[in-house]
Amino acid sequence: MTGPDILQVRHVFKAFGGLQALSDVSFSVPRRGIVGLIGPNGSGKTTLFNAVSGFFPPDRGEIVLDGRPIAGRPAWTVARRGLVRTFQVIRVFGQMTALENMLVAAPGLDARAEKERALALLGRVGLSRHANEYAADFSYGMTKLLEFARVLMPGPSLVLLDEPAAGVNPRMRETLWSIVRESREAGTTFVIIEHDMNVMMTLCERLTVLNYGEVIAEGAPEEVRRNKDVVEAYFGKTAERAER
Ligand code: ADP
Ligand code: MG
Repeated sequence: MTGPDILQVRHVFKAFGGLQALSDVSFSVPRRGIVGLIGPNGSGKTTLFNAVSGFFPPDRGEIVLDGRPIAGRPAWTVARRGLVRTFQVIRVFGQMTALENMLVAAPGLDARAEKERALALLGRVGLSRHANEYAADFSYGMTKLLEFARVLMPGPSLVLLDEPAAGVNPRMRETLWSIVRESREAGTTFVIIEHDMNVMMTLCERLTVLNYGEVIAEGAPEEVRRNKDVVEAYFGKTAERAER
């Protein structure tokens, strides 16, 4: 049942009213890979994560996780099959402590082992001292780190990260990317949305580029960076923005 790809997205479409947010999107994610998803704002990156993670169904198309179709399955079913994601707009339980937020994501097997794992992960993202503080009192960056730690809590096989480093301080950003690398070594696959091209070039083996809901390029980072359409659609705009 398992092929070389842990995830295959085939001909996925999603419209919001008259807006075609995803148009015939196909891409695949190799097992134990780190794949980057890039594209200008509004190009459909988050929408693709939403469709893949079961947040809403695609209008058309196939999504295959570990050899099993998941398109249209609800998020909790998809999560139980090992696919979890973070949100661009943070979602943690403010009225719970950091530790409680972690335990909510635990598979519910051995309470003691889970608490240990939760504390170890919180330590990894530099939140040990804050384990018993309410998430509502966390800074934006701390909340992002908590969300990142929480997504790893159930020991997922595929993790979708939607701009996980945005608002996180530079030192913790480095830590975050090292945790991604380590988790990959331990067998986890990642798809990452991140605007920092230097990070994407070094972290990812493969990049998929979206523009107006369509895949305009896919391949090794160096190859993608030299692609003329990508330079125009993405780097052109990024440079423009930086000049303003
Ligand atoms: P990205 O993450 O690449 O910045 P999004 O996937 O968030 O882009 O958005 C793609 C397009 O779809 C945008 O034009 C956005 O306004 C629109 N869109 C996304 N989600 C919704 C929604 N729930 N309802 C209506 N339009 C949406
Ligand atoms: Mg987005």
